[in-house]
Amino acid sequence: MNWKNICSLSYLFLLVCATNSKPWVLIVAVVHPFAEHIGYTLILGLPLITTFMCGTVSVVSIALYLTYIDFMNNMGHCNFELIPKFLFSLLPPLKFLCYTPSFHSLHHTQFRTNYSLFMPMYDYIYGTTDECSDSLYETSLEKEEEKPDAIHLTHLTSLDSIYHLRLGFASLSSHPLSSRCYLFLMKPFALILSFILRSFSFQTFVVERNRFRDLTLHSHLLPKFSSHYMSHQQKECINKMIEAAILEADKKGVKVMSLGLLNQGEELNGYGEMYVRRHPKLKIRIVDGGSLAAEVVLHSIPVGTKEVLFRGQITKVARAIVFSLCQNAIKVPSFSTNGESETKGFNLDGPFL
Ligand SMILES: [Zn+2]
Repeated sequence: MNWKNICSLSYLFLLVCATNSKPWVLIVAVVHPFAEHIGYTLILGLPLITTFMCGTVSVVSIALYLTYIDFMNNMGHCNFELIPKFLFSLLPPLKFLCYTPSFHSLHHTQFRTNYSLFMPMYDYIYGTTDECSDSLYETSLEKEEEKPDAIHLTHLTSLDSIYHLRLGFASLSSHPLSSRCYLFLMKPFALILSFILRSFSFQTFVVERNRFRDLTLHSHLLPKFSSHYMSHQQKECINKMIEAAILEADKKGVKVMSLGLLNQGEELNGYGEMYVRRHPKLKIRIVDGGSLAAEVVLHSIPVGTKEVLFRGQITKVARAIVFSLCQNAIKVPSFSTNGESETKGFNLDGPFL
């Protein structure tokens, strides 16, 4: 990083501080939501425009600035405490430089307090800090962990899939994963995050919590990419992580654990059967979504069909489909890949899913 970048970053930092000052945040906190969007765009775009006009702009400063803004904004609205208490004890001034989700939640609920975005020091200077800020932070940390009814254990696919994580980009995660040219700018960030995920995560962790009336669903992430599932060296490590996640969920009283696509590979753990055999006393039900896929295919077959030709690989889902068709007296001839009639290959004895 040259002196130009350092200059840009220092200037951006000062401007971030400026955009957190009371007059600005007071404006964006009390006006109409549409005007709030315009206000945010102007305020948060100011550092970029200024550095551009001063000739000190750089790709690094833009990438770091946007990452910082996005991260802080998502962190403040994620609804759980991300920063551990020991960090505030270790660095007391951090309290004035970094807000917390509980601090910002008071801005939304009390409205006339905690105006600062990202840096609470201006609320401390102007005396607009909500008096419950510290106590709410403490109680948020002590809050009893929510017990979900079901957990879906997912995994990463490509490098870009990290943008679909909760702290990623809402606009990106609202669409199916696809490579976009502008993500190239975010590659350094993606590489750093993937390195952290792979190096320091030896267990699964919660990435999303959802509640549908009385049903609580959590998504947990196994921090491995698709490429890791192809490696024999990673197989044991991945299985250990899945097994530990299942045992922990069972201990907590979770009713169902669904395994994401590669977490239930036949070669890896036999669609999760390995864990059931190892721990016969498990109360939790392990599912893999195969029954849903089979049901979708069966539903697409018109009523009154007498015969269905099967082609392709004999997978677990295929067995379930054929089994169900046979139960309904539908003939299922099949062909092997070389075109010959295939009469064996389907083991229709046991339960499939
Ligand atoms: Zn907010």
